[in-house]
Amino acid sequence: MAKADYYELLGIPKDASDDDIKKAYRKLAVKYHPDKNPDDKAAVEKFREVAEAYEVLKDPQKRAQYDQFGHAAFEAPQGGGYSYGGGGAGFDLSDALRAFMNNFGGGDSIIGDIFGFGGSSRTRRGGGHGGTRGNDLQIKLGLTLEEILTGVKKTLKVRRLDRCTECSGSGSKSGRRNTCAKCGGVGRVRHVSNSFFGQMVQESACPICRGDGQVVSDPCAACGGSGLRQAETTVSVDIPAGVEEGNYIRVPEKGDAGRAGGASGDLLVILQEKPHDQFVRHGADLACELTLTFSEAALGCSKIIQTLEDKVNLKIPGGTQSEKVFKLKSKGLAAYRNKGKGDLLVRVRVYTPEKLGRQEKELFEKLAELGG
Ligand SMILES: [Zn+2]
Ligand SMILES: [Zn+2]
Repeated sequence: MAKADYYELLGIPKDASDDDIKKAYRKLAVKYHPDKNPDDKAAVEKFREVAEAYEVLKDPQKRAQYDQFGHAAFEAPQGGGYSYGGGGAGFDLSDALRAFMNNFGGGDSIIGDIFGFGGSSRTRRGGGHGGTRGNDLQIKLGLTLEEILTGVKKTLKVRRLDRCTECSGSGSKSGRRNTCAKCGGVGRVRHVSNSFFGQMVQESACPICRGDGQVVSDPCAACGGSGLRQAETTVSVDIPAGVEEGNYIRVPEKGDAGRAGGASGDLLVILQEKPHDQFVRHGADLACELTLTFSEAALGCSKIIQTLEDKVNLKIPGGTQSEKVFKLKSKGLAAYRNKGKGDLLVRVRVYTPEKLGRQEKELFEKLAELGG
C-alpha cells in the first residue's frame, strides 16, 4: 500500500507554518495515543503515522527533502552509515512513543490527560550531561486469562546493556574522556552528496565517537571503551486486571543504559494473551461452548458450568435449540478502566450421535413417527 502523504495525515496544507504543524500533530497524537485507545489497532497505527509525519515535517531540512522527493527521500538510503533518525522506513510504535514524549514530555499538561500503564510515561528524563540515550527495549509477556482476570505481578529477567562496573560507565581506564576532534563534540556530522536529484545534505552520527561527542584514549579493557556491558537484570511489573493483547507497560530507564552519561532507555513490556483451552475472549466477555445431547436439549436439564473463577449451575429449559446462547452475568473479565465485569456467553451445541445402538435406533424411529 502506498504511504499516505504526510501533509494529508496531519490535515494541513503544504505551506503550513511550523506552529500549525506542531498543533496539528499534537491534536492527533493525543487523540490516537495508544494509552487512550488500547483496543484500537487502527488508532495505534494512526498514532505511529502522524508521529512519523511530524518527525519529518518539523525538521526544515527533512521537510525540504520530502517536499522535493516525497517518501523516496527517506527510502533506500544510498551509501552506508546514513541513519535516518526520525520517520521513514522502520519507524515503529516505540519510535512514535519516544517522539511523542520528546516533543511533549516534561511538564506538558496534556501528558496528564493520558493514562499510561504504571503512570510512568509522564516523567521525562533528560540526559542532562550529554551522551547518547540508551535504546528502548521491548519484551513480550504472555498472560493467561486467569492472570488477566485478577491482574498479576510479574518478575521478568531482562538482558540489557548496563553501565560497565570496571570503569563506572566512562569507558576509560583513567575515567577521562576527551572532546571528539572529528565533530567537535556535537556527535553528528553532515555529508553533502551529489545525486541525480541534485545536492543532498545528510546528517548522521559521527563515525569516530558514534554520536557521543567524546572519545576515550585509554579504553577500559572490560567494555572495550563503550562504557557498557551486557547484563541481566530483573524487573517487576504490575499488570492491571483486564489488559488486552497489544497493551504495553512502560518501565522507565530499564532499557539499555545510555553511552557517555546519556539517560537509559525504557523497557516496553508488550502484553500478549495466551490462548485458553476453554474460553475465547471478546473484549471483557468470554465465550465457551456447551454440548448437549438431544434429550437434554429437548427435555431441559441443569449443567455445571466451569467459569474462569468458579462453577455455576446453568438451567437449560426444554426445547433449547443448537446455537442458543446463555449469558452468565459478570462471569467474564474485568473491563479495563471500567467498573463491573463482562459476561460469560455459553453457546449450546446439540450433539447428534454418530452411531446408534439397536434400542436407541428403535426409540428414534418411534420419535420420528410421532414427530410426523
Ligand atoms: Zn565525534
Ligand atoms: Zn568499562
